[in-house]
Amino acid sequence: DGAVGLPHPAIALPRALYGAGRLNSRGVDLANESALASIAQLLAKPDRSWQAEPLLGVDVGATSASRTVLNPSDRSDAIGTVRDATLEDVATALSCAAQAASSWVATAPADRAALLDAAANKLESDTEALITLLVREAGKTCANAVAEVREAVDFLRYYAQQIRGSFDNATHKPLGPVVCISPWNFPLAIFIGQVAAALAAGNPVLAKPAEQTPLIAAAAVRALWAAGVPRAAVQLLPGPGETIGAALVADARVQGVLFTGSTEVARLLQRSLSRRLGAHGQPVPLVAETGGQNAMIVDSSALAEQVVADVVASAFDSAGQRCSALRVLCVQRDGADRLIEMLEGAVRELRVGDPRRLAVDVGPVIDGDAQGIVERHIAAMRGKGHRVARPATVDADALSRGTFVPPTVIEIDHIGALQREVFGPVLHVLRYDRDDLAGLLQQIKDTGYGLTLGVHTRIDETLAQVVHAAHAGNIYANRNIVGAVVGVQPFGGEGLSGTGPKAGGPLYLLRLLSTRPADAARRSTQAAGAEGEPPVRGWAASADEAEGQAAFSALQQWADTKGHADLARACERFASSAPSRAWRLLPGPTGEANLYTVLPREAVLCLAEHDADRLLQLAAVLAVGGHAVWPADCRALREQLPAAARERVSLAQDWRAGAVHFDALLHQGLTSELQSILQQLASRPGPIVSVTTLAGADAAVPLERLMIERSLSINTAAAGGNASLMTIG
Ligand code: NAD
Repeated sequence: DGAVGLPHPAIALPRALYGAGRLNSRGVDLANESALASIAQLLAKPDRSWQAEPLLGVDVGATSASRTVLNPSDRSDAIGTVRDATLEDVATALSCAAQAASSWVATAPADRAALLDAAANKLESDTEALITLLVREAGKTCANAVAEVREAVDFLRYYAQQIRGSFDNATHKPLGPVVCISPWNFPLAIFIGQVAAALAAGNPVLAKPAEQTPLIAAAAVRALWAAGVPRAAVQLLPGPGETIGAALVADARVQGVLFTGSTEVARLLQRSLSRRLGAHGQPVPLVAETGGQNAMIVDSSALAEQVVADVVASAFDSAGQRCSALRVLCVQRDGADRLIEMLEGAVRELRVGDPRRLAVDVGPVIDGDAQGIVERHIAAMRGKGHRVARPATVDADALSRGTFVPPTVIEIDHIGALQREVFGPVLHVLRYDRDDLAGLLQQIKDTGYGLTLGVHTRIDETLAQVVHAAHAGNIYANRNIVGAVVGVQPFGGEGLSGTGPKAGGPLYLLRLLSTRPADAARRSTQAAGAEGEPPVRGWAASADEAEGQAAFSALQQWADTKGHADLARACERFASSAPSRAWRLLPGPTGEANLYTVLPREAVLCLAEHDADRLLQLAAVLAVGGHAVWPADCRALREQLPAAARERVSLAQDWRAGAVHFDALLHQGLTSELQSILQQLASRPGPIVSVTTLAGADAAVPLERLMIERSLSINTAAAGGNASLMTIG
């Protein structure tokens, strides 16, 4: 038979995994001798010294001194130099960006998309050089560096595809100049992801890379310029966060901030932005992607060998310096001893050292500060009597040259033993009782973080219970919990872990617009993937979902019968523009089910001067299945509501009190009042709450801001394989 050995036409080849609209990024086969040889040669004998400096829309003379950038694995390896931006450079960049705004926004979406695609191709063709830079500047292993270049390329192509089909400059208006502030741990992928999104939406960008990794950021901006993106549309301002970053965020011309980094810095940025309003009278959007206290739950039905491999990858790959990395492994008590023994055996096989050597599995932490923080945490835990194991093999000569922390396993008996995120190769292990899964899920929720969550089980009911109870943006079943792929596992957390929307997901670009069609979120989520089956056999929609639908219908009927014409119209509008809550199956590799859905946020605080506005806000909240919080002086209005709707409105004596819980805020009223609301929110503890201001009775409410997104990735091969493969024609 001539077909033997040929690819099956119904199984997409890797480059075509995402269909005709978007090319998958190219990888590097690290098992291929010749591919390896040229990377190894570049690592051993670098062919150039890298340079970074402010990359501005106009040429200005150098005024600051440059500093040398060193390899965190080897302080004797000088990779290049960086000249940090001055405050004058910031001023120049801001005026260039303000001037560039009108021409960049006038560029047709298809042309912007073509430029982003060209930049993707440019990065892809420079893959080898970028890999070696990532290895030396950020201490990445080669495999991690390959994945990072691919992610950057995917971001460019993903956002290009999003605008190509569905954006129209007449109906989609950008914010204006956007500041992008990125961390060192994904110095290319996150950097490019933010920049590509802001550019795609039509905003000029001012990018502030992390202090530790300016060289790769400069290479990225040069690639965008080389691809034809106008210089003033994307400018680079390397320098310290406290000065350069803070000055950018505080400037009145800046209309949006994309931030990825620590929860603490995100709060500082919120405070800074609370002091002003954007050009459109709205609060300046802050998209913050922050840290996590990520857990994995392993019950006794899981396959221990597979768990161990996934735990090692989740906790120790990238030396644990991923926001998604596993911090707390929760093992059912019955099988815990055996599993922990196997785990420590696997850690013993890890090799810690300079990742320029291919045999190395775990590279350095980024700098001496990071090393100090992680080592102090380990010492403190040991001091409190927790069992600490550090069995990995460490290259002795490497230790003296760089900043290394050997992978460490620490046993704890309650997640409350941990306070902050520990950003390094430290895994905490907790034993739980089979009949206390609900208690464990509550402990995880009580951390306040909600980034990634893993579960290893062969029992569908357990998976369903975990997915229902989870408060985590990205859930992974029977696989590792790191390495989210653009468009396949849209990535981002909730609570203390971030504001949303998810990077590499269908709603991200909408946050970067000041105006868009009312149904944009519905269309965009629909386009992300076909409606799929519920994620797990025996999955039941929550009771809350049905109650939410009943409440919305009741309000709609009430508006009709009481003659509230404006409210009735608003209900109709919202009903037709609310994103559907169906699970969607996103494209991805075989052997994995990647699902995505949107859910209502927990509670939306509704602040309005007039009852009519408050009712309109309630209609928006109920249209997405949510709950509202009203100030206590709205008791009389609440009493008039039909019972089903009334039950979804709670009253708060004083919303400023930390105890009142809400995770979104709708506001209609005076601008002066809005300013004080923003400042009061910024001084409340807890997660960052975004505020949406509505104007007029016909206010278009961007309904997705009342929702959160969930990604669920299930390794289907773990439980019996991908049966759909056997049935394709
Ligand atoms: P960081 O918060 O210290 O720094 C992040 C960026 O903010 C840097 O560019 C820094 O210069 C800048 N910055 C610092 N202070 C500033 C200020 N006052 N004003 C403006 N900018 C300022 O974080 P980091 O150490 O670079 O990165 C590690 C953290 O990032 C971890 O907490 C990790 O969990 C988080 N992270 C989150 C995600 C996610 O998607 N959720 C992804 C990667 C990293």
